[in-house]
Amino acid sequence: MTTPPPLPKPGSHQYACPSCGAALEFQPGTAGLSCPYCKASLDITAPEAGSTKLDYMSYAALSHVPAVQLPACEVVCVNCGSSQQMSVVAGRCQSCKGPIVVTDDCGGELKAPDGIVPFVVTKAQAGEHFKKWATTRWFAPTALKKVVRTESMRGAYLPHWGFDDATTTDYTGQRGEHYYTTETYTENGQTRTRQVQHTAWYPASGRVSRDFVDVLSPGVTEPDHEMLEKLGPWSTANATGYQSEFLAGTDAPRYSVDAADGFGYAKQVMAGVIEDDCRQDIGGDEQRVGSMTTSDSDVLFRLLLLPLWLATYVFAGELFQVYVNANTGKVIGQRPYSWIKITAAVIVGLIVAGVVFYLYRNGHQS
Ligand SMILES: [Zn+2]
Ligand SMILES: [Zn+2]
Repeated sequence: MTTPPPLPKPGSHQYACPSCGAALEFQPGTAGLSCPYCKASLDITAPEAGSTKLDYMSYAALSHVPAVQLPACEVVCVNCGSSQQMSVVAGRCQSCKGPIVVTDDCGGELKAPDGIVPFVVTKAQAGEHFKKWATTRWFAPTALKKVVRTESMRGAYLPHWGFDDATTTDYTGQRGEHYYTTETYTENGQTRTRQVQHTAWYPASGRVSRDFVDVLSPGVTEPDHEMLEKLGPWSTANATGYQSEFLAGTDAPRYSVDAADGFGYAKQVMAGVIEDDCRQDIGGDEQRVGSMTTSDSDVLFRLLLLPLWLATYVFAGELFQVYVNANTGKVIGQRPYSWIKITAAVIVGLIVAGVVFYLYRNGHQS
């Protein structure tokens, strides 16, 4: 009699290896899962439909429990049978390190992802980008180059809200036009003339409209917005429908910033673009924008998972985090500074300045 394979407890997903039964891991940069033990592989059928967008206003009209208040999910690992609490979308079993994808949505309160931006950069390529980054940092300790190991890189997804919005903005402001006058002045006892620029301001008002697509708003607070902005952009146009297999073996936190706060941030991003549109519309040589009243229509949103590679390294007892955009290979990270190198550079700089000064003085004396 053969024993049927253990069924995953509802609320979590693990994909059993067809050969040995171990939990399979997604291989970023490919369209398949593979077994970390026997190397067997399984192709994932990519979803035919792209990632769907939802009507934001009807979602916002309903009340939602803030994501940070939602409980952890109880998950049982099929690899080792251990039971644990997980408050991530994807991670690893605390006992056997097997990959686990959590599909429990806290009774419908935790919004499921709508789309995934696929990995383009493979682990090996991410390792190359990281190596290049580490070896080209100014004033980095020489030993940093030895820390670079690709095995320490982990595939991860960061949740982001994407908003579409057809905006119409009524603005008031002023248009500045330059004009010149001729002024006379006296220099060394001689009367001279010069052209002086002035700006005449005229009232301006009008209406501009713009269709925004996928304005991204981070669903997490760590890494911070500034760091994520530097790490971007991601090609959200290539997002596929959500399929939990793509998360097996990756790190994917839950979103902690709710859609409403995400929309607030997206509105700020859009306001910057709209202000530029108003300036363009005002014309002239200079512009002042006084007020902008924007109305939103056809607001759509979706929860997107953006791919990246994470590397954590310890240097001189301190922990440093590095992120590689898995769309573009761009690297953003924390790095150590070598105070010996900085001090040496300062001393060399002072010596050079001293030599230059000495030559300059001698040049003038001869
Ligand atoms: Zn296997
Ligand atoms: Zn386990």
